[in-house]
Amino acid sequence: MNKADILYCLKSSGKEYEALLNFSSEQKKKHVGNKVYLRGLIELSNNCSKDCYYCGIRKSNKKTKRYNLKDAEVLEAAKFAYENNFGSLVIQSGELQSENFSKRIEHLLKQIKSLSDNKLGITLSCGEQSEDTYKRWFDAGAHRYLLRIEASDKELYAKLHPQNDLHSFETRLKSLELLKKCGYQTGTGVMIGLPFQRLEHLANDLLFMKEFDIDMCGMGPYIEHADTPLFQYKENLLPLSERFELGMKMIALLRIMMPNINIAATTALQAIDKNGREKAIQIGANVLMPNITPGTYRDAYALYENKPLTKSSDDDCKTCIEMNLKGVENKIAYGAWGDSLHFKAKTSAKNLHSLRTGK
Ligand code: SAH
Ligand code: SF4
Repeated sequence: MNKADILYCLKSSGKEYEALLNFSSEQKKKHVGNKVYLRGLIELSNNCSKDCYYCGIRKSNKKTKRYNLKDAEVLEAAKFAYENNFGSLVIQSGELQSENFSKRIEHLLKQIKSLSDNKLGITLSCGEQSEDTYKRWFDAGAHRYLLRIEASDKELYAKLHPQNDLHSFETRLKSLELLKKCGYQTGTGVMIGLPFQRLEHLANDLLFMKEFDIDMCGMGPYIEHADTPLFQYKENLLPLSERFELGMKMIALLRIMMPNINIAATTALQAIDKNGREKAIQIGANVLMPNITPGTYRDAYALYENKPLTKSSDDDCKTCIEMNLKGVENKIAYGAWGDSLHFKAKTSAKNLHSLRTGK
């Protein structure tokens, strides 16, 4: 697909939109099957040293009540994922770069591996870190990492972040390279429907992911948060329903462009439409991240408004998910890591090459 094709699809509506979703759904079936892999999501802490203009837990938001799960709570959640046969979990957190934080995650990884008899797969999403830290975490048992580029256009990125070393586009990009180098299955993604974002940016985002040769993707609609600097542009945003539809188009297009990668059905889709994640799974996504953060902390991890499954709402219960997925003819692959087939294909091609050439 070239840029013109992508733009054409991003603009589609009515019958053409339906046809796009039908085609991507077929591609999904053909290349990754109708299986959904679970990653229990643990939101470790909302302490963050950064000030991204879109994010509700940014450092300068004094209204956020900060929390940090206790190690015992993380391990309890991991045990829950293991005992319920989730196969994998994700540890996500605000970004902290310190020896204490690196050490803590390293230790937690080892403990999770040990309590699950090495059976739980672990994805991390803890922001930009040094190569050494990425390596240590990989060696301790993490094998997948999600770091969204947020916006692959440098100028747009600059409008979404403060202008300082802590928020440099180059560092974000370099971090993605480091993750690949350390051996992680590397995932990235963008927010969809951001202020200042045009369809052309989104088309380039997809081309960026293809060019970077990502293994996984998590992308979803941007949802404004009142206590953030970007909230002032609220009036210029697309209506939520259109942001949702754009999200669906982006997932469909990526599935067509990169048929064997893992694509997550993100929570932001569910925040707009309560069946949003299932709809995404029907047309291309194959990974679901049920929230297993202890209930009392969920309200505080408010990246955006109306985030579902806060402490006052229902649990992301297994039977509900199973039923909803049945409705879209998909099935949970319990107990499986569900690694990116794209990554596996790349790795075996590389191994074959070195066997043949000795390099
Ligand atoms: N601190 C880490 C991981 C936690 S934030 C990091 O930034 O990489 C996880 C993701 O939440 C971010 O990558 C961002 O894309 C998303 N996010 C933050 N604010 C958002 C908002 N207002 N709407 C939608 N997604 C948002
Ligand atoms: Fe921190 Fe991530 Fe939010 Fe940026 S997006 S403020 S790094 S939690």
